[in-house]
Amino acid sequence: MSTPFLNRPTPLITMADGTLKQVNPLTGTEVWTVPGRGNRPLSTPATDPRELSEDDHRAACAFCSERLLQTPPEKARVVLEDGNWVTRPGLLPGQLASSTAEFRRVPNLFEIVSYDYWQENYGYEMDAETALRMHEYLADPEGREHVFNIVKTRLRAAGKSEAELEALTEEELVDRADSYFGGGHDLIIGRRHFIDGATHDSQLASSGTLSVAEHRAMIRFTTEAIADLYSRNRYAPYVAVFQNWLKPAGASFDHLHKQLVAIDERGVHAEAEISRLRANPNMYNEWAVDYANYHNLILAENDHAVAFAGFGHRYPTLEVYSKSATPEPWLQTTAEINAMSDLIHACHAATGANVPCNEEWHHKPIDLDIPMPWRVMIKWRVSNLAGFEGGTKIYLNTLSPQNIRDRVVPELFRLREENRIAPTVRIATEANVERNSLKYNPILRS
Ligand SMILES: [Zn+2]
Repeated sequence: MSTPFLNRPTPLITMADGTLKQVNPLTGTEVWTVPGRGNRPLSTPATDPRELSEDDHRAACAFCSERLLQTPPEKARVVLEDGNWVTRPGLLPGQLASSTAEFRRVPNLFEIVSYDYWQENYGYEMDAETALRMHEYLADPEGREHVFNIVKTRLRAAGKSEAELEALTEEELVDRADSYFGGGHDLIIGRRHFIDGATHDSQLASSGTLSVAEHRAMIRFTTEAIADLYSRNRYAPYVAVFQNWLKPAGASFDHLHKQLVAIDERGVHAEAEISRLRANPNMYNEWAVDYANYHNLILAENDHAVAFAGFGHRYPTLEVYSKSATPEPWLQTTAEINAMSDLIHACHAATGANVPCNEEWHHKPIDLDIPMPWRVMIKWRVSNLAGFEGGTKIYLNTLSPQNIRDRVVPELFRLREENRIAPTVRIATEANVERNSLKYNPILRS
């Protein structure tokens, strides 16, 4: 166990007392699960839910549907037209009310990597199309006022006084507008804050409460946004995609949203994983999906994706892998993207809206020469045992992969019975996961 990376890794070892030692074969992360802690509830129900007013449904937070001008200018939205989910590029303020945005893509007001970062470090300039859109937006009186308000909101949060804000000239305000058009940190925001018909503030609209069709529209819209960010910034080798659900998982609002951040690195984790991939191009089959299958950890499968209870993670993790031969999510077929969406959706639904979680996407960095599959991890941010990790770099996780499976699988059956997940999802033993079912590896495809 002290050498976590061997030619044939042994990710799961059960000791005589029942302690489960896990090593993540892709990252080397070492995790122990101590017996007897896995049966505790994942979340405690809200003790005193507040009754909702009519306003709460549309204006509970800055992401809500009656506060469209509290976010920076919309880059795009998804609308439902005659039963089709259609992407509409950025609108002017006066056009926002002409359709219902099922999902909106907006720049993050507090970006992790700013427009200035790209400009100062790389000489980045926004593309002509984006620049034109910015000029049109600023030429529109309502658009101009919107952008100035956003700039001021940002400066106010940074500690500027009202007097200092008043003293800013129009030119100074316009100078700060670039970030809200040409930046590389976007949000994908859902329409609802609470589920339809909610009476109390505990009834939040999470990924798992969306319909199968809505969730597919959100995932497709997110893949389009990745492609768009890559195409507009040639200095970015990677676009990180993640979703923080509820405050313990890092969310600023309890309103469903994903984040996309174009970055100038592949990430440290990815570099270690890539060097392992060079040594074994088939590792995602051998060390992830097939290993999970041999150990009865498959949660669900459909024609183009597979989900299993993950091992070697600091937090209990559900892993969803695309079987597609196409590593880039945005280049996959609609059927392939929908299949990923359906399993991600089912995993969220089985997790429940009260459990704080992170959804992390992984895909092939755009400049990487070897293929890797699109995969999505859903990490339950439930309490873990602190104090031990610092010195040992061994993490303690209260739930084993088997504990996770035994919680999720009965939920999946119940959800399917209630028609709340896609009927094409094959659950646990219904699945028949073939060896080497991930087709990203060109050797296996020939
Ligand atoms: Zn909201």
